[in-house]
Amino acid sequence: GRKFFVGGNWKCNGTTEEVKKIVSTLNDGQVPSQDVVEVVISPPFVFLPLVKSILRPDFHVAAQNCWVKKGGAFTGEVSAEMLVNLDIPWVILGHSERRLILGESNEFVADKVAYALSQGLKVIACVGETLEQRESGSTVDVVAAQTKAIAEKVSNWANVVLAYEPVWAIGTGKVATPAQAQEVHFELRKWLQANVSPDVAATTRIIYGGSVNAANSKELAAKPDVDGFLVGGASLKPEFIDIIKSAE
Ligand code: 13P
Repeated sequence: GRKFFVGGNWKCNGTTEEVKKIVSTLNDGQVPSQDVVEVVISPPFVFLPLVKSILRPDFHVAAQNCWVKKGGAFTGEVSAEMLVNLDIPWVILGHSERRLILGESNEFVADKVAYALSQGLKVIACVGETLEQRESGSTVDVVAAQTKAIAEKVSNWANVVLAYEPVWAIGTGKVATPAQAQEVHFELRKWLQANVSPDVAATTRIIYGGSVNAANSKELAAKPDVDGFLVGGASLKPEFIDIIKSAE
């Protein structure tokens, strides 16, 4: 089976004091064992060493981005090699905030995913449609094109988690219904089956992100193709522990 996966994406939030407080709450939380759920916390780059040093050992950390190739003269960027050097096992790539605000294309995101994997990082690769795309009926085409760009550059999917994050559900309080999430996850898995392999389709975790909270996570988690969550706002709050518990 696919082990349930819960990621906490802190985005561009936090002070040192707030970070210590959130981690202390997480460290005190009672959650299912690592055999049941994989938990990955993603603070901003500058807090990664601090979080890694104080976080309970059964939770892991992720960066929120990294440079597309080997480091060098790229002012303001952080390379995959640096994350490996600091023992950061995971990186989130292709988040819609980077695709839409920073202009990262399908191609650029795919290059990042391939390079990060080549350096030994595990990747949470994000896909998702805008409201306009959903309303025009192109949701499945959009997420398939985003996934196809990645599949063209990645052959080993063992270290990839695919995050479906509809843009209209991110930070809006408008969560996808369990049926809406299940439909897209099912289509993504079908796409992987037809275009990558039945094995990759069966084993790749497809997680949902967009206004997940403790009140809606259980019902979403019950859907057969929802293998976990990527949580934004609620990952900064104590209710993140309850979201992790929806793995059971
Ligand atoms: P929210 O949970 O705040 O809607 O954010 C979702 C997200 O973008 C996680 O990566």
